[in-house]
Amino acid sequence: MTFIAAATGSTLSSTRATAAEPAAPASATPPAPGGPFVLPPLLYPPDALEPYIDARTMTIHHDKHHAAYVNYANKALVGQDALAKLSAEEILRQLATIPEPLRTTLRNNVGGHVNHSFFWLLLQKDGGQPKGELARRINATFGSYEAFQKQFNEAALKIFGSGWAWLSLTPDKKLVIETTANQDNPISHGNKPLLGIDVWEHAYYLKYQNVRADYIAAFTKVINWEFVASRLG
Ligand code: MN
Repeated sequence: MTFIAAATGSTLSSTRATAAEPAAPASATPPAPGGPFVLPPLLYPPDALEPYIDARTMTIHHDKHHAAYVNYANKALVGQDALAKLSAEEILRQLATIPEPLRTTLRNNVGGHVNHSFFWLLLQKDGGQPKGELARRINATFGSYEAFQKQFNEAALKIFGSGWAWLSLTPDKKLVIETTANQDNPISHGNKPLLGIDVWEHAYYLKYQNVRADYIAAFTKVINWEFVASRLG
């Protein structure tokens, strides 16, 4: 599976450093020596989501937190030639086969890279609501968009500590709301994420402090539903 970027047609696999890839933009953090992963640039200015998600949070979240996951993942893969050839998603699908302590390091940092690469693509100014087939599927599963939103937001609010809430597709193509701890991603247990909200405090604390509910409500205003719908296919 790859995360398709609606705006560019690029995929998450393009965030790997390969010979065919054009030079990373100046804003990207270079990979650690020998590492396969590269911080993807934001496809919009950091203030694009104001006032819902503030520019300073976006800048620190992307340039510092996401960059750190990339750098730690690259560092952990030094000397791990077989694993370093895999895509980030493939590593997350194969975590159970990787011995500790490397498994936990990759779970956290490759997970952080995959989750954040996905998260930036989920956001846009003026998010709107789901349309078409995705709207029909949400209505059929949850009753209405409003009922979905209530259930999704409650799931995000109730996560104890750091983690993510997701709208995912199960292997038998059912829509489910689920949560994961830390940087775990649903692909590690066979589901395909369509939408995800980062509820680590670094995602909201500068603007919303301890009021996670207000951040969650703001997040719903800046969801790129066309990108979410593209994930159904
Ligand atoms: Mn984060």
